[in-house]
Amino acid sequence: MFAGHRIPYDSNIRVAGSELVTVGDAIQSFDYQLEAKINEFTSAIFFCAGAHLASPALSLEKTIEIAAKYSVPVIVDAAAQLPPVSNLWRFTHELGADLAIFSGGKALRGPQSSGLVVGRKALIEGIRVNAAPYPRLGRGFKASKEEIAGLLTAIELYLKRDHEADWQRWSKVVDSWVEVLTNKSSCVIWRDDVNEAGQPTPRVAIQLKEPTALDVIAKLQRLDPIVEVVHDSRRMIWISPDSLQPGEEEVVPTQILKALPY
Ligand SMILES: *Cc1c(COP(=O)(O)O)cnc(C)c1O
Repeated sequence: MFAGHRIPYDSNIRVAGSELVTVGDAIQSFDYQLEAKINEFTSAIFFCAGAHLASPALSLEKTIEIAAKYSVPVIVDAAAQLPPVSNLWRFTHELGADLAIFSGGKALRGPQSSGLVVGRKALIEGIRVNAAPYPRLGRGFKASKEEIAGLLTAIELYLKRDHEADWQRWSKVVDSWVEVLTNKSSCVIWRDDVNEAGQPTPRVAIQLKEPTALDVIAKLQRLDPIVEVVHDSRRMIWISPDSLQPGEEEVVPTQILKALPY
C-alpha cells in the first residue's frame, strides 16, 4: 500500500497473515516505486480510496494499470466512500479494481459490525471459504445471520433512497447551523461540501481562534445530550447532519454554543 494511505485500520492486513509493504512516502509516490516493490510474494495492492488521501499516492487508475501488468489484484478500501451511491460499482465495474470493501455501519446504516465486499467472483469465493460456516480465518469475525440479513436490507434501502433529497435536507440543516453559529467571536465558521472522507456530504467547519478544540470536545462530552463531532487536536471541529433523526438538528448548535469559549 502507499505510505500516504496508511490508516489505523491497516493492522488488519497483518492480522490476516500478510506482510505490509509500503510504497512512496507521506508526500509523493512514483510509478517506478510501485513497480519496484512488486515481486512473486505480492498478494495484492491495498488502495485506500478518498480525495482526502489522494495526493501522496498514485491515482487508482494508474495503480490498476500497473497492477494489471503484473497480474496483482487491487483491493480498494472504500469503507467511507458512500455517498455517492455509484461508488458501489464505480471502483470495480468502471475502474477495474478487483475488490472494493464498504463499511456496513457508515452511510449504509446497516449493522455496525458488518461490511460489504464486491468484485471479482474468484476472490469473493476466496473470502467465502474463509468465513463461517468454515472454521478458518474469518471465524473469529463471524457475521451472524441477523447481521447478514440486516446488511442486505440496509443495501436495498440505500439503493432505493432519494439521494438528491438527502443532499437537499442536509444542505438546509448545514445552512441553518452556519446562520446560528456565525456570530460567535471565538471562531470562524464556514460550510464544507465534503465530509472527512472526502465524500459529498455537507457539514459545518468551526475553526477556533485559539488551539482549544480538545477543551471544547471535553465540554461537549459533559453536556446532556452529548454531541459527537469530528475534530483535530488543535483548532478544528466539524459538525455533520447526515446521521441525525428529524428534530435533532436543533440540539446540535445549542450544545455547540454552550461549549464554545466565548
Ligand atoms: C471506517 C473505515 C474502516 C473501518 O470500517 P468499519 O466498517 O468501521 O470496520 C476502514 N477503512 C477506512 C478508510 C475507514 O474509513
